[in-house]
Amino acid sequence: MKNASTRLLALLILSVFVILNFGTSQVSASNPFTDVSSSDEEIIYLWNKGLINGTSSTTFSPNSSVTREQAAILIGRILGYASTPRETDFSDVPSSRYSSGYIQTAVENGIITGYPDGTYKPKATMTRGEMAFLLSRAFNLKNTGPVFFRDVNVSTDPKSLYLAVNKIATKGISNGTGNANYSPSLKLTRRDFAVFAARGLESSFRVTFQNATIDELAATVDSLNIRTGPSSTYSTVGKINKGTVVSVYGYHGDWAYGKTGSLLGYIHSAYLNEPAPPAPAKPAYIAELVSTTDNLNIRSGPGTSHGAIGQMDAGDKIQVLSYDGSWAYGQIGTLKGYVHSAYLVNPAAQKRYIAIDPGHGGSDPGAVANGLVEKEINLDVSKRVQKLLLAKGISVYMTRTTDVYPTLSQRVTNSVNSGANAFVSIHANAYTPATSGSETFYSAALDQVATDSKQLATFIQNRLYVAMNNNNRGVKEASYQVLRTNPMPAALTELGFMTNTSDATKLASSTYRDRAASAIAEGIEDYYNWKAKN
Ligand SMILES: [Zn+2]
Repeated sequence: MKNASTRLLALLILSVFVILNFGTSQVSASNPFTDVSSSDEEIIYLWNKGLINGTSSTTFSPNSSVTREQAAILIGRILGYASTPRETDFSDVPSSRYSSGYIQTAVENGIITGYPDGTYKPKATMTRGEMAFLLSRAFNLKNTGPVFFRDVNVSTDPKSLYLAVNKIATKGISNGTGNANYSPSLKLTRRDFAVFAARGLESSFRVTFQNATIDELAATVDSLNIRTGPSSTYSTVGKINKGTVVSVYGYHGDWAYGKTGSLLGYIHSAYLNEPAPPAPAKPAYIAELVSTTDNLNIRSGPGTSHGAIGQMDAGDKIQVLSYDGSWAYGQIGTLKGYVHSAYLVNPAAQKRYIAIDPGHGGSDPGAVANGLVEKEINLDVSKRVQKLLLAKGISVYMTRTTDVYPTLSQRVTNSVNSGANAFVSIHANAYTPATSGSETFYSAALDQVATDSKQLATFIQNRLYVAMNNNNRGVKEASYQVLRTNPMPAALTELGFMTNTSDATKLASSTYRDRAASAIAEGIEDYYNWKAKN
């Protein structure tokens, strides 16, 4: 007994020294690579631990893809496998191959598998899906959580991609590629792989997984249960009433998982429906027009043969109830009568009044990367846009001016109710580190605004990527809720990628935020100028 506990103590002391030693090597981390910046801490960390090599003594080639062989070597080194080459189970990995020892040991430990035809395909490139399997096994991850991605189907099969992805997300190794996608078929870059491996090894690199909202749905009944799991056998965490809006993160069969207020859980999707698109407040009259001239006759019938019952002066209003040819019939003060429409204009049709929607806010930070928080960038740029627009004489409704979260349907409804006649949502993007550039979206879901929406998006995009000196990712159609349910012409612009080092530097800079804001404000002005002629 004594002997055993002494040995245990010695082991404990030894591990303390090992941990301290690792700590020291991190502090004195050096970076031999000319193509790796100091913000690529994960690459520098792995290199300093002797776990990863460059592609030459001074280059790492972070944007090159990772082969299945390179992945096996890195995982083998992390797990402390012997490097000695040896016989393998695979026809295409001979014992003469440098990686053979790592590959065979990883196979024997159940960490990697080959193909049914008996090959390993060492030179094939790795996808993010394969990486999820590899890392969940290599780090022996067991914990799962409520993790949802649009492009990975929920499954309870222990061998499923879903469970592998769930485990690495729950561990804080991957947050997905943004917009609730995991992108399992996307090829991995060497930088991506280093980031994931470093997060698996070292907790300080990990991220907190956060589901993204894919739908906002409203309860269709009162006293609707929110449960801890996807079946009615799970206990209830709370109830919601008809009309309560739920931010849905994903679906497990018929059950939607999401959040409403402080409640988080599963709700049967049969009792959730898309909130009705807001109808613009409909006045009792067709249009409110204004006289352009003094002494304009109000007549008892639709023609100059009918007698005048009164007169309008320039600026007087008529609420038009109907038209008879070119004669407008309506209410003018206390009078009802006919006025020739050639002398009437519609100021509402000429007004320039835009809703600006700074994306996310409050409990929803949007994307978080490179020390930037999307909701803050969106609000700051939006406020700069507001200021520039007001200086141009364009009225602005802001869906938020502080760090709060209006729901997506509130953003649309409040904008409609404000009287604005176009809508622009401002966001910053997230994807892989290599992806960069500006892009602007519109929806063609509602016929009556599709053409105008596309024009609005195009005017903004054409100025934005130039001002940001960014890659032009173009104008694209997308089914975002603030676009597809919007009765006004609407666009959603993504300034750049927070996950790309070059874009992130611009997004952090006041100069570039001003440039983005000018581009958006000018794009909106272009749109109104075009509208005035069309
Ligand atoms: Zn966003």
